[in-house]
Amino acid sequence: MDFTIPEKTQIIVEMMDEFIKKELYPLEKDLGSNDYDALERELDKKRKIVKQMELWAPNHPKEFGGMGLTLMEHALVSEVLGQSSLGHYVFGCQAPDAGNIEILHLHGTHAQKEQYLRPLVDGKIRSCFSMTEVDMPGSNPVMLETTAVKEGDEYVINGHKWYSSSADGAEFAIVMAVTNPENSTYLQASMILVPTDTKGFNLVRNIPVMGHTGGGYFSHGEIIYQNCRVPTENILGGEGQGFVMAQDRLGPGRIHHCMRWIGICNRAFDLMCRRALERTIAPGKKLASKQIVQAWIAECAADIHAARLMVLHAAWMIDNVGASAARKEISMIKYVVANTLQKVLDTAIQVHGGLGMSSDTVLSYFWCHERGARIYDGADEAHKISVAKRILRNYMD
Ligand SMILES: Cc1cc2nc3c(=O)[nH]c(=O)nc-3n(C[C@H](O)[C@H](O)[C@H](O)COP(=O)(O)OP(=O)(O)OC[C@H]3O[C@@H](n4cnc5c(N)ncnc54)[C@H](O)[C@@H]3O)c2cc1C
Repeated sequence: MDFTIPEKTQIIVEMMDEFIKKELYPLEKDLGSNDYDALERELDKKRKIVKQMELWAPNHPKEFGGMGLTLMEHALVSEVLGQSSLGHYVFGCQAPDAGNIEILHLHGTHAQKEQYLRPLVDGKIRSCFSMTEVDMPGSNPVMLETTAVKEGDEYVINGHKWYSSSADGAEFAIVMAVTNPENSTYLQASMILVPTDTKGFNLVRNIPVMGHTGGGYFSHGEIIYQNCRVPTENILGGEGQGFVMAQDRLGPGRIHHCMRWIGICNRAFDLMCRRALERTIAPGKKLASKQIVQAWIAECAADIHAARLMVLHAAWMIDNVGASAARKEISMIKYVVANTLQKVLDTAIQVHGGLGMSSDTVLSYFWCHERGARIYDGADEAHKISVAKRILRNYMD
């Protein structure tokens, strides 16, 4: 088995690493501020430099202006960008746009690609993905109350969504709504493009998340769709294809999410080691001299390494046997990496003491915004059930 990283990928990753440390770490202090317009203006300047460096949109198709990296290459890129909460945004591969770009690329019509995909890859507009509902369990997404009823050449959408990340300032939403209630469960819903200036698209609020309401790209919207009318040509794929299309983007998307989390682990681990070596806790004694801290460092290092190898193996499986045959591996990395992330962040905060709880390091921001890792992209429990069922199937006659 060859673990060597190809030279071309290594060079890209090193250039990104240097940029992030030099240009983005200093801006992270503004993540907790309330002036998100000012932050986005600063980030736009950095995006221009990234484009000049030809490192823009690493995972997106070349014909639409991206670098067209492979799954494995972008996995390594995602790890390095994940070290900062600003990384993916500044390099043009941020969620939820990245997933929406994939859907549009795979299933959009020529007209949809020109209107939505091209400016989205270019970073001229943003988007959101509007599936989870306030009154329905996101863990069982086939239970949707939002409907899109055909009237003439329009769909009329009604429903109450929340956690539509980055809806604030987005140009359009991809909305999951029931169009075909007569079909079997997995063929009832469709994805529909809804421009956010459509009458009846009501962004009610940005949801406060652990005390941070955020703004612009850095927010999670609650949206009421009230007799919201869009042309029938705004459907993506075909009627009833919503869940099939959602399934398509799961494998690659999961790899990138998980490698982003590994990047956060690496950053927290680095901060933890530095703090342990800097902090004097008794005359002539550094925190790092304590065996309990050494054990934390050794355990976190091994946990991160193991989680990282699992993700790279799942990516290798997708490349070699396809996402469908790798479903167990794709589910396993979700809860393993999310829990590793939580453990490493918690340990790093512990080592920092009061400083870890303050907003003077990036750890508290990570803690507030990445706790959700165990909930979104399928709650851990749902993935564990799915993995166990697949394993137990082998023991049944
Ligand atoms: C930061 C963040 C960003 C998000 N971004 C988006 C977005 O952009 N677009 C979007 O549409 N949604 C988004 N979501 C929503 C997310 O997908 C849902 O929160 C998730 O699917 C869980 O659904 P729920 O919140 O309704 O929890 P529920 O379905 O009510 O589940 C609650 C809990 O029950 C447990 N549970 C669930 N099922 C089972 C089971 N079968 N067995 C045992 N226990 C179970 C789990 O612990 C779960 O956390 C985001 C969420 C967060 C936190």
